[in-house]
Amino acid sequence: MNTSTLIAPPALVQRAEKQDTQAIQALDSAHFIHPFTDHGDLATRGARVITHADGIYVWDSEGNKILDGMSGLWCVNAGYGRKELADAAYQQLMTLPFYNSFFQTTNVPAVQLAAKLAALAPKVGDRSFNHVFFSSSGSESNDTNVRMARRYWDLLGQSQRKVIISRHNAYHGSTMAGASLGGMSGMHAQGDLPIPNITHIDQPYYFENARGGESKADFGLRAARWLEEKILEIGPEKVAAFIAEPVQGAGGVIIPPETYWPEIQRIVDQYGILLICDEVICAFGRLGHWFAYEKFGIKPDLVTFAKGVTSGYIPLGGVMVGNRVAEVLIDKGGEFNHGYTYSGHPVACAVGLANLNLMERENLPGRVRTETGPYLATQFEALKDHPLVGDAETCGFVAGLVLVKDKANKQMFDPDRAVGMICRGHCFRNGLIMRAVGDRMIIAPPLSMTVAQIDEMMGLIRRCLDATLADVRDQGLLA
Ligand SMILES: *Cc1c(COP(=O)(O)O)cnc(C)c1O
Repeated sequence: MNTSTLIAPPALVQRAEKQDTQAIQALDSAHFIHPFTDHGDLATRGARVITHADGIYVWDSEGNKILDGMSGLWCVNAGYGRKELADAAYQQLMTLPFYNSFFQTTNVPAVQLAAKLAALAPKVGDRSFNHVFFSSSGSESNDTNVRMARRYWDLLGQSQRKVIISRHNAYHGSTMAGASLGGMSGMHAQGDLPIPNITHIDQPYYFENARGGESKADFGLRAARWLEEKILEIGPEKVAAFIAEPVQGAGGVIIPPETYWPEIQRIVDQYGILLICDEVICAFGRLGHWFAYEKFGIKPDLVTFAKGVTSGYIPLGGVMVGNRVAEVLIDKGGEFNHGYTYSGHPVACAVGLANLNLMERENLPGRVRTETGPYLATQFEALKDHPLVGDAETCGFVAGLVLVKDKANKQMFDPDRAVGMICRGHCFRNGLIMRAVGDRMIIAPPLSMTVAQIDEMMGLIRRCLDATLADVRDQGLLA
């Protein structure tokens, strides 16, 4: 018997222009529990079936071509259809598809990728990053961070330092520790989270949290000092670490004022607590640098990465371990009783290496920093003229805009009206993937996007904003 018939009906595996969408949707709804999805909605409307992709575009099973303004899920940094990444995976699969890194064994791609990452991670002040711990995702990496930070303090004889401070509306993944570190109230509400000894401060969101007349600079300092207040409230001797995304991604592309990070650095230094930068989105060129801590002059002790390290082609994550932690953990630590079957997976690491080489050769971080990023910034700035747009800002290749009812008074729409979702619907229908976080519309395009493609995307964004404006006018929602 031909075994391929046992795997799947050919109609489901073939890349055809028109596929049997309804049959796939019915099977999907019958068997596949999706992440972060309301299955009542899914059953009635059916999932959009994405069949193939190339460059900055994806295609669905109805043959629609869609410009992917979100790089999949913030991860396809190099764009789709990169043959050399597929070749790297194939070659490694044929050479050594798997071996573990436990028990004093290693494999060549993992060693090479760790060395490559250490070479790409810039030294800041007295911090250097010569060591890497591998996992398969951002969530797992943040679980590793919790264990590593607490282990570090144990080894220093300060095991009372357990508390990790994070921020409301942060996203750090969906495992028990990841979701606890994250500041999403909807996630905390399901499953008794956060786990003990994790607490949150407010995010530095100027548009929403600044006082009337307060400058961005003043707000940035005030927001950073919420960390100091929290440390003093808990007792500095009990605080292990502060974790934050340099720019909050899933929370809606929250870009902190310039004064924020230097003041955070002063505070963590003053109280001696570890600083963890979650760069799962921000690293690998997303903000125009290999690592975002360089852009902001932050001196982290641990740096979480995932997503863009393989451009999402295969799961891989990890933690860059700075010398402060490495010297204790590795030099005096003995065995760290922690690891994953797939830590340093040879195929994932081979793809990671090929991806970083590709990004280096095409200078994708540099292009975002000096060419396409600044161009995107001017285009977003120009959106502020639009009657619906209360604010619009970018940082490298992430961008966000706020849909408002009344620009002059910064008045938001009633959240029940879900104006962001109206806009997102127009985006889908017009062949653009743009995400809605409440009434913030956000993008994070592939870093391979050209200036001409930015123009194409901006044209679609304007068209969708106009269509949304027409809808909210019709519904009498404007001020
Ligand atoms: C996506 C994300 C994670 C979680 O990564 P997974 O690979 O989904 O586990 C963690 N932190 C940040 C900042 C992220 O954007």
